Amino acid sequence: MNTTMEAITEVEETLSELRQTFKSGRTRSVAWRKNQVSALLQLIHDQEDEIFKALYEDLGKHPVEVYRDEIGIVKKTINYTLSNLEKWVAPKKSRLPLLLFPTSGEVLPEPLGVVLIFASWNFPIALGLDPVIGAISAGNTVVLKPSEQAPACSSFLANTIPQYMDSKAVRVIEGGAEISELLLQQKWDKIFFTGSPQVGRIVMSAAAKNLTPVTLELGGKCPTILDSFSNPSDLKVAIKRIVGGKWGPCNGQACIGVDYILIEEKLASTLIELLKKTVKRFYSDSPKDSKCIARVINRGHFERLRNLLKDPLVAASIVHGGSLDEENLFIEPTILLDPPLDAAIMTEEIFGPLLPIITLKSIQESIEFINSRPKPLAIYAFTKDEEFRQRILLETSSGSVIFNDVLIQFICDALPFGGVGQSGFGRLAYNLDYLGLLLLFLGLKR
Ligand code: NAD
Repeated sequence: MNTTMEAITEVEETLSELRQTFKSGRTRSVAWRKNQVSALLQLIHDQEDEIFKALYEDLGKHPVEVYRDEIGIVKKTINYTLSNLEKWVAPKKSRLPLLLFPTSGEVLPEPLGVVLIFASWNFPIALGLDPVIGAISAGNTVVLKPSEQAPACSSFLANTIPQYMDSKAVRVIEGGAEISELLLQQKWDKIFFTGSPQVGRIVMSAAAKNLTPVTLELGGKCPTILDSFSNPSDLKVAIKRIVGGKWGPCNGQACIGVDYILIEEKLASTLIELLKKTVKRFYSDSPKDSKCIARVINRGHFERLRNLLKDPLVAASIVHGGSLDEENLFIEPTILLDPPLDAAIMTEEIFGPLLPIITLKSIQESIEFINSRPKPLAIYAFTKDEEFRQRILLETSSGSVIFNDVLIQFICDALPFGGVGQSGFGRLAYNLDYLGLLLLFLGLKR
């Protein structure tokens, strides 16, 4: 769609239709909500091969990765929703002061209205559909704006959703920044945004005009602290997890991916050797030819990543990898040792296959290092030192802290997922945190 009068009319008509549907009360019925969520399950089931194809086309993702990070996540969300929805929408009795006896009070979950969802391109199916499941199961109508940077997935969603879901309640509008700006000029009852902090600011200021509540799922630089281990096998396990977490999901293009490692100087050479060995083991001598590792999304991001390496001091810090294949949009897993801290690679979110290692005199300094930067979406810390763990928990602030593993918070049903400060706010449903979900999408009425 382009921003001609035609596009403006289409956006306005869509919104008006969705508002009408919401006002009709149809979306409030639990049967309707379950029916829509089940229709989405059917879509995923029928169109699995098309999803594999679209994600291969956009990002070169391996089918196992697609199943783990996209299809499986959405199916899990749907099944969890279908088994819990009735419980979530039921009124909850409140305890009132004795003084008010015999008055009774209840909290009634209530849908907000029309929800606008922006998805990012790195997990274009899961990060598009999971918030849709949340909004629908809370009784709202929805516009989904997939990312234009994953065009095959965007058109897959635009073509298939109307075939399965109530198109008077769920709509997909495709397009880039211009369409997004047009959407943001409208009045919504909730905006759910997944993307960069830069665009997050634009979304929030547009929402402020109508006092529309927003959830911002943003990014940032997620540090990984690697303490020393007395048992060498603990170190090996840590390295395997770091390598799998850095290059496994979308080749480093993940909001909760490992951005950089903090380690004591004396351990750096051992770490580099183990990282190199493990990268080789996981992705072969020639990762470019491996089908298990995703490609950079497009030329724009390829250029952005190339620029991060252009600084001569950064280039000089490469200790492994560094080769770039522009034609195939592939950047080799690349490890850097102590690039300058004021270089873009250490001030901007990397969102790609480059992994800086920053050395410290003592690992305890990592707390100050992290605190001198914007609050990250996640902190990973490999340590067995209980006192140090407590310091990390009490003295740092981030969306989540994970000890001795990476990325697993994404699939922990009972834990809330989201950022703090520059990494966002609000809690997302895509890790199935439906307590969070209800608080997000439902107004609470006494
Ligand atoms: P982005 O901010 O460029 O785009 C996100 C969405 O905003 C897209 O739908 C895009 O069309 C729209 N958009 C772009 N420019 C706009 C403008 N000027 N006005 C209004 N809307 C506009 O982000 P991205 O490149 O798609 O995704 C990468 C970022 O997302 C990274 O920072 C990453 O960490 C973050 N992310 C966060 C999470 C999370 O759960 N916290 C998950 C995935 C990605």
